[in-house]
Amino acid sequence: MHPRTRKFLSYYRPYRGLLVADLGCAFVASVVTLLLPLLTSYITRTVLASATADAMRQVLFAGLGMVLLVVIFTLCNTFVDYQGHMMGALMERDMRDELFAHLQQQSFYFYDQRKTGQLIAHFTSDLFAISELYHHGPEDLFIAIVKAIGVFIILFAIDVQLSLGLLLFLPLMLVYALYFNRKMHSALRETKDRVGDINAQVEDTLAGIRVVQSFTNEPIERAKFGAANARFVASHRAGYRSEAYFHEGIVAFAQLMTVAVIVLGGARILDGALDIADLITIIFCVGILVDPIQRLVNVARVYQEGITGFERFMEVIEIAPSIADAPDAITIDRVAGRIVFDKVRFGYSTAAGDVLSDLSLTITAGEYVALVGPSGAGKTTLCALIPRFYEVCAGSITLDGVDIRQLTIASLRRQIGVVQQDVYLFSGTVLENIAYGDPGASRDAIIAAAEQAAAHEFIMALPNGYDTDIGQRGVRLSGGQKQRLSIARVFLKDPPVLIFDEATSSLDNTSEAAVQAALERLRRGRTTLVIAHRLSTIRNASRIVVLDAGTVAETGTHAALLAHGGVYAELYNQHSRM
Ligand code: ADP
Repeated sequence: MHPRTRKFLSYYRPYRGLLVADLGCAFVASVVTLLLPLLTSYITRTVLASATADAMRQVLFAGLGMVLLVVIFTLCNTFVDYQGHMMGALMERDMRDELFAHLQQQSFYFYDQRKTGQLIAHFTSDLFAISELYHHGPEDLFIAIVKAIGVFIILFAIDVQLSLGLLLFLPLMLVYALYFNRKMHSALRETKDRVGDINAQVEDTLAGIRVVQSFTNEPIERAKFGAANARFVASHRAGYRSEAYFHEGIVAFAQLMTVAVIVLGGARILDGALDIADLITIIFCVGILVDPIQRLVNVARVYQEGITGFERFMEVIEIAPSIADAPDAITIDRVAGRIVFDKVRFGYSTAAGDVLSDLSLTITAGEYVALVGPSGAGKTTLCALIPRFYEVCAGSITLDGVDIRQLTIASLRRQIGVVQQDVYLFSGTVLENIAYGDPGASRDAIIAAAEQAAAHEFIMALPNGYDTDIGQRGVRLSGGQKQRLSIARVFLKDPPVLIFDEATSSLDNTSEAAVQAALERLRRGRTTLVIAHRLSTIRNASRIVVLDAGTVAETGTHAALLAHGGVYAELYNQHSRM
């Protein structure tokens, strides 16, 4: 079996019982549908034709039997409708859960290459039709087969010649169906890709809406969106066209079958080979045959809708996270925090070339190091390598003497607190956002962390203090305030290693002083690496490491480096002139 097929079927596993019950009910309902014309035939032929004294009683009896069948039919169909749909929905939930967990494991490389909008489409449009496929697929296929076989058994029992004539329609329909089914597949696949494009375009424009409006470039964004939207419609056109040809063609075949029955049946009656009661039963049966045919048509459509989404889903699921735990990875408890870069070479991709080359650097436990260097020198990159957001291409990084690739990612990242330049705040309250550093922390601990981070005062000034919803209208935090919230998170997390990417600008003097004071408290007792954009941070650092063109150009104290008169002295002079 193809691995994807196996994977597709594997989602049924937890719901095997439900599936069996569902198919059982579908089976009973199909058999009941077949019994109804037989009872009709029984009444018209045996009871009414013979018109015995007992006839009325028999008609009532048959009527009662039919009512019972209707009850059974309704109960079974209700179960199929309700529980079948639920089974599909549960399976869809499992797939969404798996996709979500899978995306969270993906490394930064993955996210560098993908658009959020496209990824969201996997959750929405791709899996939208999958639950339909999961329950309607087997159900309708099963019902159609049972009914078609049943109808043909009855037909053959009545008239072999006529049944053979009808049977001839099937291969024709099959060829027709297969042809348009293939067309539907490629069209639906295309449509799904285009939905992803639309999502990506909307996401891009809305994320940058402030830039869009400040440049009054709404027409440009509209044009971009319009183009994506037009491609979407074009792909839909092809899809609907083949769907219409497919659907209407098959329905026409079914109607032609009825015509054939009337013509052939009429001829057989004139020949005396068939009587009217038989013809009525046959027409009834062909009427029933339309249902399995339409079901199969529906299965084909649902299958294509679902399977094209499943393919896109699998394309993401099959991407193994590029950074994962080694099979024999070890878990570390709190480290002292000695970090050694040994001849590290790194590039984001082979095409883009190396960002860091032959970089060696030793940071002792508890040391406070400021990273400086021209923009693009690789400071951010160097820091991203320590928590293994990216993987070194050559050389190694060790933490307390252990290669970081030998550690479980979770335990490695627990050692490191990162304060980024752009602080991301989740929707929710201030309290919840700080608690992100330690979801189990008590309210008191959170407030203490905020105090340490010099954030308590401004938080208390917010409309609801710690319980202020950050996403709420009217609550806008400044860059410096966000950074202090981020520092509070790290206080709660209390890691032995700290990476701090200072905000380049946008902080006013008071804010900067508050952030600086918070950092000074936070760094105590931790190995600290600061990507320094400000002189104040540099001066406080016990050592300054100057990066230039992907390697360590100089290292030393502020005074020593100034006296040396190299890259640092030049940078410093530029700064002081500003
Ligand atoms: P710095 O922090 O010193 O300004 P960075 O580490 O951000 O420098 O960038 C170093 C180089 O790596 C730059 O040339 C930059 O364009 C490139 N770079 C940074 N991030 C990525 C990324 N995610 N993908 C590809 N290239 C990147």
